[in-house]
Amino acid sequence: MLTNLQQQPADALLALIKLHNADPRTDKIDLGVGVYRTGQGDTPVFGAIKAAEKKLAETQESKAYLGPEGDMGFVEALMPYVFGKVDPTLGGRIEGMQTPGGTGSLRLALAMVKRAGVRRVLMGTPSWPNHAQICADLDLEMAGFNHATPDGTADMDALREVLRSAGEGDAILLHGCCHNPSGIDYENDEWDEIARLVAERKVLPLIDLAYQGLGLGMDEDAYGLRRVLVAVPEALVAYSCDKNFGLYRDRVGALYVMMGEEAQLAAAMSNGHALARANWSQPPDHGAAAVRLVLEDEALVREWLDELDTMRERIRQVRSRLAAAGKVGTLDLAPLGGQNGMFSILKLDKEQILALREKHGVYMAGSGRINVAGLTLGNIDTFVDALEEVTT
Ligand code: PLP
Repeated sequence: MLTNLQQQPADALLALIKLHNADPRTDKIDLGVGVYRTGQGDTPVFGAIKAAEKKLAETQESKAYLGPEGDMGFVEALMPYVFGKVDPTLGGRIEGMQTPGGTGSLRLALAMVKRAGVRRVLMGTPSWPNHAQICADLDLEMAGFNHATPDGTADMDALREVLRSAGEGDAILLHGCCHNPSGIDYENDEWDEIARLVAERKVLPLIDLAYQGLGLGMDEDAYGLRRVLVAVPEALVAYSCDKNFGLYRDRVGALYVMMGEEAQLAAAMSNGHALARANWSQPPDHGAAAVRLVLEDEALVREWLDELDTMRERIRQVRSRLAAAGKVGTLDLAPLGGQNGMFSILKLDKEQILALREKHGVYMAGSGRINVAGLTLGNIDTFVDALEEVTT
């Protein structure tokens, strides 16, 4: 029976990691994998998380099951950071549950919208590949629209066009900040327009916030999400703590649901809980419990936010240095300075990407996506020289 299963294509990024690991060159540069790196090339555990984990080991008295909603102390402690300190539940209309990472949250959100009768998911392209993979796995139809213009701004015309023909029964998947793979985010006035259009067309927003704090700042990165939520009756937010707490493999995320009225939340959330039960039953506890302990302790919150500031500043510094190189062969690196988060796309063809890898030991995704945090101040010039060589 199982021989009916067809060979699936290998995950290109995982294959790239293998190639990179096998490369003996000591000056190789890894711009493929999507994790933050320090100037020394490490992805360390946050100091605030280490302290919280120590506390957790000393104080946790049981590891008995918590339920499909996970650690609700974690879910609630995160809300003021996501939705704002003044009224983080928007008058009691938002409730959440813990999920295994942002991916678990997206899976649940998309399964929920399908159950609710959504037929189509509008999605800017290119997007993080797992968005389309989850939709395809759930048999949800996708309507792609162009995310960015050739000059490196958000393609608002394409968004307006797709929304013009959209309506009830459609959902729209939006990156809250630090767009993956392009780094091209909406400006605040563009978010204002998106909020108005989505509300007018009665399209259900699903906002993916996987990099809060790594773009312009914690509140700045939540501008679009908050703007959309006050404009519409219902919305979903898929949140990841895996980047902004450095918890990647511990799988920490949350799904938030906003309904028109508080009384409608119980029914909606019961679907989230039932879907979780049928998928992973209960989310893994450790990382979320550590985040909760950080958020419950003022000193640890300060330490966490300082660590996040350092990461954001380093990303900005690398971006500024790349942008300062300006025109490099056929590329213009200047727009990278105004983009946000870890990712940007370089307009390179397959041969150029291969030449970068083989001749220069520079590893990047086949789409031309680079993780700018993979660069250090010590190797940016080497990287720019390599780009110049393969593009001229
Ligand atoms: N959303 C986007 C845009 C991402 O880039 C990622 C991870 O790379 C995720 C969601 C999911 O993150 P995780 O499942 O690791 O929390």
